[in-house]
Amino acid sequence: MARGLDRHRERLEALSLLGKNLTRRAGAKCELCEGTVGKVAALEIPPLPEEPEIERCALLCESCHRVVDGGRLSPDDLRFLETSAWSDLPVVQVMSVRLLRRLAEDSVHWASSLLDSLYLSPEVEEWLKAK
Ligand SMILES: [Zn+2]
Repeated sequence: MARGLDRHRERLEALSLLGKNLTRRAGAKCELCEGTVGKVAALEIPPLPEEPEIERCALLCESCHRVVDGGRLSPDDLRFLETSAWSDLPVVQVMSVRLLRRLAEDSVHWASSLLDSLYLSPEVEEWLKAK
């Protein structure tokens, strides 16, 4: 059990080392909504590699963190997905498409048409297939 705890702590340390580069990449803003209000924090997007990788992490504000984690969606507050879905960063695209798919399932029209017009690289497609 202690071993699991150690591994968890190691992972958090590795993540905080990434933090500085991640903050630089993100310009200290939330990488989804570009908000600067409140605290932004790193979130790893599964599937998780053995060691934390910056390509698998995103800097998110508290409210985006919540929706990415499965929190309730209010479509009008998520219009930033129309921009973030076109991001050059695969991790941002993956988060955006997953949210858009949830919205589309709730019959949110703009989300469905955005998904139809979106180009996804093979790398992003692969990532989306993983859970
Ligand atoms: Zn945000």
